[in-house]
Amino acid sequence: MSEARVIVVTGASRGIGRAIAEGFSEPGCRVIVNYHSSADAAQETAAAVEARGGEAHLSRFDVGDADAVRDAFKEIVSTHGQVDVLVNNAGITRDNLLATMKPSEWDAVLDTNLKGAFLCSQAVVKPMMRKRYGRIVNVASVVGFIGNAGQCNYSAAKAGLVGLTRSMARELISRNITVNAVAPGYIETEMTVHMPEKAREMLLTQIPAGRSGTVEEVAFAVRFLASREAAYITGQVIHVNGGMFMG
Ligand code: NAP
Repeated sequence: MSEARVIVVTGASRGIGRAIAEGFSEPGCRVIVNYHSSADAAQETAAAVEARGGEAHLSRFDVGDADAVRDAFKEIVSTHGQVDVLVNNAGITRDNLLATMKPSEWDAVLDTNLKGAFLCSQAVVKPMMRKRYGRIVNVASVVGFIGNAGQCNYSAAKAGLVGLTRSMARELISRNITVNAVAPGYIETEMTVHMPEKAREMLLTQIPAGRSGTVEEVAFAVRFLASREAAYITGQVIHVNGGMFMG
């Protein structure tokens, strides 16, 4: 069995996921960089991890596809011997108002953001239970707490992710597996870059810090929850939102 700490980060080809992967760039850490369609960007993440002294491997799968997830984690566990940390970060938006939201927009967001976390967690839980150790960190969102017009699907998925986090935490702590969430506020990434300037200005007025957050600030909270030392913290949500919502 490998001595390296094996960390799987879903949706690590860019944005917050890339920063999380880079946060584990240190000797003794082996980062599995998951992506779905952006192979070149995922390769850049892996190169960034290795440039900082870490070890990275790519793993392509759709987190919402049960067969693909099962096969990918089988491969990861047989190659690397274990999974110590799972970060369920992959996420998408398909914004629309309730009145006009298509069932396909609802399903796509729920499948990736919520079912994806369920499937990946289920795939790692047996190896983690055997090892009697694990850290699972789910990337939720402030809108799972406060809602957002045009994001019924996304906010429902993120609120669901918090419920999933807490139930998993109760099931797994007796095996030394902690399950927590990080709920970012407004972070500038490809997910938010197309927001109209007026909406962006409005949003900034609701953030006491007066600015958007950085991907590194989110990654720092994930890293803290994934640390060995965070053993007595489970079922919690760390809000990284500049004061936008205080849970
Ligand atoms: P992003 O830049 O759009 O990145 C999303 C990542 O998810 C990409 O790496 C993408 O990879 C991957 N992905 C999408 N669908 C996937 C699938 N089915 N299977 C595997 N990977 C998939 O978004 P981000 O802002 O970094 O968001 C990361 C997480 O933070 C998401 O869960 C998001 O909901 C959450 N969040 C973001 C903000 C924000 O303000 N940015 C705020 C709160 C929460 P491919 O291109 O390869 O598919």
